[in-house]
Amino acid sequence: MERTIRLSGIAYESLVNGPGMRRVFFAQGCKHNCKGCFNKDTHDFCGGEERNVDELIKDTLDNPILRGVTFSGGDPFEQADKFAYMARAFKEKGLSIWSYTGYTYEYIIENKNARLGWSELLNNIEVLVDGRFEDERTQDGLKFRGSTNQRIIDVKESLRLNKVITLD
Ligand code: SF4
Repeated sequence: MERTIRLSGIAYESLVNGPGMRRVFFAQGCKHNCKGCFNKDTHDFCGGEERNVDELIKDTLDNPILRGVTFSGGDPFEQADKFAYMARAFKEKGLSIWSYTGYTYEYIIENKNARLGWSELLNNIEVLVDGRFEDERTQDGLKFRGSTNQRIIDVKESLRLNKVITLD
């Protein structure tokens, strides 16, 4: 059976969504409705388009200049099982994997066994940039995040030490 994922778009070679040259997969579907969101077209769970996951993986691995991939949105955690499948394939090949989400790390930890694919996605990404975008908390020069409440989290260390470890 064909395995598909619903995306709003792809940035094939991006330098602004994590360190180094990355491919960015923008999930379609988001429930957070953050004030000031500038990706409102990505909220509708019926929008965007269904893409074949195995083809997306192959096409990414065929590009030798990519250092990593980033899952953005929309909210990748609404299709966590599918992003986890991609993450596993990329991790096996040594690519760095970042994911954005509107959920907080703490919320994901609390619910990781109740929500489809959350635990698996968390276990296969290197960095999580968490939390909703808050337009009262923007700041000039913020790197890789939209507002100051969002954190760039080292997932492996955070899981190991059972507390949030950030990279900045
Ligand atoms: S989580 Fe991201 S895509 Fe979703 S509403 Fe907030 S800013 Fe927009």
